[in-house]
Amino acid sequence: MNYNLVWFKRDLRVHDHASLLQASRNGPVLCVFIIEPSLWAAADATTQHYLFLRESLLDLDLALRKRGGGLRIEEGEAVAVFERLWHEAPFMALYSHQETGNWLSFQRDLAVQQWCRARCIKWHEFAQFGVVRRLQNRDLWKVHWEALMAEPCLDPPACNWIATPETLILPEPQSLGLIQPDPPLRQKGGRRQGIDTLRDFLFDRSGSYRGGISSPLSAPTACSRLSAYLAFGCLSLREVVQATRRQLDALPRGDARRAGLTAFVSRLYWHCHFMQKLESEPELEFTNLHRGYDGLREADWNPAHFQALTAGRTGWPLVDACVEMLKQTGWLNFRMRAMLVSVASYPLWLQWQPVGTWLAQQFLDYEPGIHWSQMQMQAGTTGINTTRVYNPIKQARDHDPRGHFVRHWLPALRRVPPEWLFEPWRMPLKLQQQCGVIVGVDIAEPLVDLEWATRQAKSSLYQVRGRPEVKAARAAIVEKHGSRKLPTQRRKKVAAGDWVQTQLEF
Ligand SMILES: Cc1cc2nc3c(=O)[nH]c(=O)nc-3n(C[C@H](O)[C@H](O)[C@H](O)COP(=O)(O)OP(=O)(O)OC[C@H]3O[C@@H](n4cnc5c(N)ncnc54)[C@H](O)[C@@H]3O)c2cc1C
Repeated sequence: MNYNLVWFKRDLRVHDHASLLQASRNGPVLCVFIIEPSLWAAADATTQHYLFLRESLLDLDLALRKRGGGLRIEEGEAVAVFERLWHEAPFMALYSHQETGNWLSFQRDLAVQQWCRARCIKWHEFAQFGVVRRLQNRDLWKVHWEALMAEPCLDPPACNWIATPETLILPEPQSLGLIQPDPPLRQKGGRRQGIDTLRDFLFDRSGSYRGGISSPLSAPTACSRLSAYLAFGCLSLREVVQATRRQLDALPRGDARRAGLTAFVSRLYWHCHFMQKLESEPELEFTNLHRGYDGLREADWNPAHFQALTAGRTGWPLVDACVEMLKQTGWLNFRMRAMLVSVASYPLWLQWQPVGTWLAQQFLDYEPGIHWSQMQMQAGTTGINTTRVYNPIKQARDHDPRGHFVRHWLPALRRVPPEWLFEPWRMPLKLQQQCGVIVGVDIAEPLVDLEWATRQAKSSLYQVRGRPEVKAARAAIVEKHGSRKLPTQRRKKVAAGDWVQTQLEF
């Protein structure tokens, strides 16, 4: 039997799906998703990712069934599964999207490529993001991104389907070794949920985007909350860009949503800009983008600091509240993510790789290309962007002035008087006893003196940065990874509070 195999990966939809469309034009189609044990055994995979995936697969299967098809689930390593399917009934060609995943999925793709060559099977891969394979230089990258986003979205095709099992049987997380708790308040997977979130944002919530995305109090509703739907491909980036631009055209001048949506489109561009870095340099998941920073923190690894950070026991209320929110929801806004990495990298002086793995587990929207680029950027190891150090006490005063966020996520602090809320360790013992919150017992005591430890950290970083050979190596990194044209937002005057979030640095 001659047919085409469509391999669904992180593109769990039938709309705007180039590989499904092209496969359907060239013969009968079998749709397959592979649950790969080695990927689920990796340090960055957790129960929440798997459950979101399962929800999305059920939704995808439903969408395929509505059109007369269905999804076949296979469990095993990709090459072994393809070999099995090929022996069952040889297929003519393999179709999928171009994945920019973690190191393991990259190695898996290389193995699949070899297998295809050995079996003389053509593997057609289609870009779903503005990421360019084998990019030679960055000069025309933005032009390419705009061109891809302007192409018409593809309708789900009518296919000649190869039969699939009646019901979708998906393994339980435990059988894949996934035993982490599922955050009770995490977003649910599936395209329908993604579409609802997009509509709600475009027509309503985007009015609060500008000015609302920095505070952890307003961000959960002011931000689009589309990241997980983009990471799993329930929505295509192009359809989100186009729907946003249509809405922008329809809105009257002066409508608050216009400013929000304009800033939002620039984030969608960053999405691909950051992913391109990992595509061009897959090693940045493990190694410093600027090798001159090798050895900066590694030898000073402090397990107690890491343990306190991951347990939400640093003693800095905003930091610990963010960790608690992450555990409950699987999501945090950009500013608070950046602050967590800053606290880990500077006063706690932890190297970024283990911190990044822990955060990858916590973020439902874990997207390796964005994640590892951002980790390095915030930890200061790219060598080409400004050092950003966030003071968690100042951040609390700026973004949670009344302490609602901290009190919500850290009930133990509810009895602490407002004037001591962000620095409870400074409370006199008598007051601690009066309000029934003893520092070191009911709440953690800070591990280090914030000011002193931050100063030390900056000084160590600047020493490396100042070395002539480190300075000299910057140009090559800018050439390979730097953006060529700054987005319009940077040239516009923006409110001081929004500044950090609207500039694109490299
Ligand atoms: C250390 C660190 C790690 C991060 N890891 C991830 C990750 O694994 N996956 C992920 O999607 N985002 C990551 N981000 C970027 C950003 O924090 C999230 O995209 C955002 O908080 C998701 O919420 P949202 O969809 O409501 O964002 P919105 O503000 O509504 O943005 C819309 C979309 O634009 C993209 N985007 C937004 N901000 C950025 C950014 N700074 N860089 C690149 N793309 C961006 C995302 O796709 C996002 O869904 C990380 C940021 C930091 C500082």
